[in-house]
Amino acid sequence: MKTVDNYNFAGKKALIRVDFNVPLDNNFQITDDTRLKATIPTINKILKDGGSVILMSHLGRPKSGPTEEFSLKHLVEYLSETFKTQVKFADDCIGEQARQKAQSLKPGEILLLENLRFYKEEEKGDVEFSKKLAALGDVYVNDAFGTAHRAHASTAVIAQFFKDKVAGYVMQAELDNAKKVLDNAERPFTAIMGGAKISDKILIIERLLDKVDNLIIGGGMSYTFFKALGGNIGNSLLEADKVELAKELIEKAKQKGINLLLPQDSVVADGFKNEAQTKTTDNKNIPDGWMGLDIGEKARQDFIKVIENSKTILWNGPMGVFEMPNFAKGTIAVAEAVVKATEKGAFSLIGGGDSAAAVNNLGFGERVSYVSTGGGALLEYMEGKELPGVKALEV
Ligand code: AMP
Repeated sequence: MKTVDNYNFAGKKALIRVDFNVPLDNNFQITDDTRLKATIPTINKILKDGGSVILMSHLGRPKSGPTEEFSLKHLVEYLSETFKTQVKFADDCIGEQARQKAQSLKPGEILLLENLRFYKEEEKGDVEFSKKLAALGDVYVNDAFGTAHRAHASTAVIAQFFKDKVAGYVMQAELDNAKKVLDNAERPFTAIMGGAKISDKILIIERLLDKVDNLIIGGGMSYTFFKALGGNIGNSLLEADKVELAKELIEKAKQKGINLLLPQDSVVADGFKNEAQTKTTDNKNIPDGWMGLDIGEKARQDFIKVIENSKTILWNGPMGVFEMPNFAKGTIAVAEAVVKATEKGAFSLIGGGDSAAAVNNLGFGERVSYVSTGGGALLEYMEGKELPGVKALEV
């Protein structure tokens, strides 16, 4: 796969698929610019070479056609300040205006196209739509790892219309770091899986059973495991149709000699709210009417010990309902342990979504090895699936 480092953009118009799907508040101010910041090096490399940049992205999930809420024009000011140049904006991603603005773009200039998802053709992977987008640039760059698992027009289909197609730095780093963990992990290798549902993570858990030394399971999904072990889990989250599967996973881990760590205890609450009454109980004996919303003190200590002695760490999913401060302790303790292990020389990869948000919110983003920007894409890659956006760059 070619990357931006193997390509000279001088005099070229680079059409870059970026992931500018950033959260905006009611006044259309950006509340988290992680994804924007991530693409700066790729854009700068192209500009420095003497190329011009055409940015295309989706924002949110517009239902039918253009809306103010999902317009990418809200990002123009931020981008102009970041790159110290007035970023141009085309209020349609295809059509005459986009074509003219792209055509008149000079080296060093940046053009942002309007939200790709204002056209249903984007998500359908429409070939004609892809062709119209492709006509805007000379070289295709994909730096949107977060959407690489989708065979959309701008993420995959479009690539066939370019002789030159390259991966941006974000794409390259995401793939390199995922490969490092999957294929070159220094031992002990510990995977930490949390979050709400086993069903979302079953494939990756199965694959990890062939790779890890320690598998830590926390969060809502752990209660289905305790049910499988014959425990009383009260009103905790349960995926009844996954109990058998949880049994199988426990058995498989045993056969493979993997250290499967389930939380010994939980902070349980008498309601799903921050102010609910709480107590700590053994995980096999959660009383009826109570639900586990965070891992308990004993579980925290167990997990910390294993994490701090690991050389490779992959973390996906919080240990509890970390959005509520009273149930965030487990997730914070794990984040701190991951930072400590990293400081001792471990390689730590935080896999997108909520665990990435937790690490960033705690200000630990710079103190772990890599925080992935792609939730679903990273999981699918780690499950061993071929990502259409990656494949399109390879052929
Ligand atoms: P996921 O997207 O699968 O990583 O799940 C993340 C969500 O799981 C977060 O919104 C958490 O609040 C939620 N979660 C974590 N632990 C629990 C729990 N014990 N009970 C209910 N929800 C949980």
